[in-house]
Amino acid sequence: MGILSGLGGLGLGNLENMDIFEEEEKEKEAAKAKAAAAAQIQEKDIVFDRSYQCPVCEGNLHSKAVKSGKAKLLGTDPDLRARYDIIDPAKYDVILCEKCGYAALSRFFDKITHPQIKLIREKISPTVRIPKYNDDIYTYKEALERYQLALANAVVKKARSSEKAYICLKSAWIARGYKESIQADGTGSTKQLADLEKMEDEFLLNAYKGFVEAVQNESFPMCGMDEITVNYLLAVLAARFKKYDVASRMIASVLGSSSASPRIKDRARDLKEQVLQEMKKK
Ligand SMILES: [Zn+2]
Repeated sequence: MGILSGLGGLGLGNLENMDIFEEEEKEKEAAKAKAAAAAQIQEKDIVFDRSYQCPVCEGNLHSKAVKSGKAKLLGTDPDLRARYDIIDPAKYDVILCEKCGYAALSRFFDKITHPQIKLIREKISPTVRIPKYNDDIYTYKEALERYQLALANAVVKKARSSEKAYICLKSAWIARGYKESIQADGTGSTKQLADLEKMEDEFLLNAYKGFVEAVQNESFPMCGMDEITVNYLLAVLAARFKKYDVASRMIASVLGSSSASPRIKDRARDLKEQVLQEMKKK
């Protein structure tokens, strides 16, 4: 006698022997299968070779790019670095011509003037040597080199402060991602972790200096960021380097802005709390 055996008398005899937890089991199995399929997607599955024409040597080049909509956003660090599962898209933001050594962040790649092209042809192309990588993906080591080349190009072509600052900011994100990845798989030595931390700090300090200069001399939007976003970022960086007066001023400008989104105001409030705590400790 099953626990549902009385159903026959209620006109539901066809349901007398059903497994009451079966549906739930099926759903669990389906969820498991879905998770397994998601786990099988690897970084190499969501990158592809994109072709460009190099504005400096006019040759064709390929750089790896990330397929859109495949990775899931996990969260955002205080300095606005977005973290995703499967992939760190920041690794793929430098477009590099292996023939002439021209490298730039994707948003600046085509925005180059004739005098700048001349400078790169004179000061980068004759001596640059790009290491050969044959991986399906860009490793963090390779990504760091690509960012260093982008920064060298930016200095040589006398780029604006904002562009150099933005390269430094994203380089810091690469150093942080590198550190996190070797921490996660346990392959990093103490020295390597310390070196990456130091590198991240230096990049952030340069990003801070660059953005301070940029807000005095350039107009918004800056590297795709509006004034509120840049002020918030400056507040985060200023707080990191204990420039509490600058941090407080920038936080106040974000909180006092009528066009700032609730999300960035929340972040600014968290930062204000952190700055107040740190100032108390002084
Ligand atoms: Zn080229």
